[in-house]
Amino acid sequence: MGTIHKAFKVRLYPTQEQQDFLNQNLGACRALYNMMLFERIEVYKQFKDNKRELFEYKYKTEKEYRQEFEWMKDADSASLQLSRIALSKAYQNFFKGLAGKHKVKYGFPKFKKKRVGSSYQTARTNNNIMLDFKESKIKLPKVGWISFKDKRSEFSGIIKSATVSRSSTGKYFVSVLFEQELNLSGVAYDSIDESQVCGLDMSLEKFFVNQDGNSPAYERLYRKFEPKLKKAQRQMSKKKKGSKNWYKASHKVSVIHETIANKRKDFTQKLSTELVRKNQVIVVESLSLKGMSQALKLGKSVMDLGYSEFVRQLQYKTLCNNKILIQADKWFASSKTCNICGYVNKNLQLSDRKWDCPNCGENHDRDKNAGRNLKNIGLKEIGQGLPEYTPVENKTSGSFRKKTTKVCSVKQEKALSQQI
Ligand SMILES: [Zn+2]
Repeated sequence: MGTIHKAFKVRLYPTQEQQDFLNQNLGACRALYNMMLFERIEVYKQFKDNKRELFEYKYKTEKEYRQEFEWMKDADSASLQLSRIALSKAYQNFFKGLAGKHKVKYGFPKFKKKRVGSSYQTARTNNNIMLDFKESKIKLPKVGWISFKDKRSEFSGIIKSATVSRSSTGKYFVSVLFEQELNLSGVAYDSIDESQVCGLDMSLEKFFVNQDGNSPAYERLYRKFEPKLKKAQRQMSKKKKGSKNWYKASHKVSVIHETIANKRKDFTQKLSTELVRKNQVIVVESLSLKGMSQALKLGKSVMDLGYSEFVRQLQYKTLCNNKILIQADKWFASSKTCNICGYVNKNLQLSDRKWDCPNCGENHDRDKNAGRNLKNIGLKEIGQGLPEYTPVENKTSGSFRKKTTKVCSVKQEKALSQQI
C-alpha cells in the first residue's frame, strides 16, 4: 500500500561528555562541507576552460579528508558521508536551477558559518540508532545512549535516519525519521455522517470560522510578543557586534523567537489532532499566502497565523488516519456564495459582515456562510450535497477515487514524506 515517512523529534539532555562529542561532530560536518566546497571552487578555477578535465576530476572523499585531519578521526562516519552528499545535492540543485528545471532558484552553495544553531544527519546501519521509551533514551552512533524528554510512549515503524541539531539557544534535539506502512483500507463515503464533515474558513482575527460560526481559542502570538521582542532587539543593536554582551542580547532575541514558534506549533498540533479525530472530511481553502498578504498588506498577521503549517498538519494527519482533506480552489468565492442557493454576490465588500441573498432571501453572517460553503464542497464530494446547490469554480485537491475509497498517490506520499 506504500510507505510514509514520519519524524519523531525530541529534546536531548546530553551529559557534558556527550555534549562535547555532539559539538565536535557538528564542527567536523561543517568543516568537511566547507573544505569540499573550497576544493570544488578551486578545481573549477583551474579547469574551467577544460570541460573534460573538469568533469573527470576525482574529488577527495570524506575518507581521505579523515586520514588527513586527525581531529576528524572520531567523528561519526555516516554523518560525514551525508555532509558530502548534501554538498552534491546543493550543487545539483544549483545547476538544475540554471537549466530552468526548478521553480525556485537555488543559489550557489554557501560556506557554512560557525554559529550556535547547526545540525548533522546520520543514517541507521544495524542497531546504531535505537529508541528506548521505557528509559527515555536514544542511542546515537558514536555517542551511545542519550536521555530525552517526551510524553509519547511509542512510535511505530523502521528507523531510517536521525538529525541531531543544536538550536540557536544552545539546546540539543534529535529528529528520528521513521518509515511506516500506510494502511489505507479506504473510506466508504456513504458511511460518513453529515456531522463529521466540516468547513473551515480562514480568518485573520479568529484563525478560522467553521460552518457553525465557531472558532478555536486563538492568540495572536507575534502581536503579543512584539513589544518584548522589539525591546530585546533594541538592546542588541546598542551592543558592540560580537562582544560578550552582544551575544547575551542576541541569545535573548533567539529565546523569544523560540517561545513564539513553540507556542504556535503547540496550538496548531493540538487543533489539527482534535479536528482529525472528530471529523471524517475536512474542507479548507487553499491559500496563496504570499499573494494574500501582499494584496491585503497584512503580511505580519498572515505569517503570524501559521495557517499553512496547520493545513500541512491536517494533510498528513488525515492521510495517516484514513480521513479526507479537501482544499477548495483558491478562486472559489467562499464568502460571496450563498450557501443555500449558490448565488454569487459579486458586490460583497470586505467590510460587509452580514448580507442578504438577493436570490433566496437568506440572511448571512459572512464567516459562517463561508464555512458552510466549504462544508458543502465536502458534502458534495461524498455524494450528500444539496441537489440544487452547485458551487461554481471549485476543485478538490485530494487524490481519492470518488464515492468509493480514498487512495493516495505515490507522488502525494513522496511530497508528504518530505514535508513531515
Ligand atoms: Zn441564496
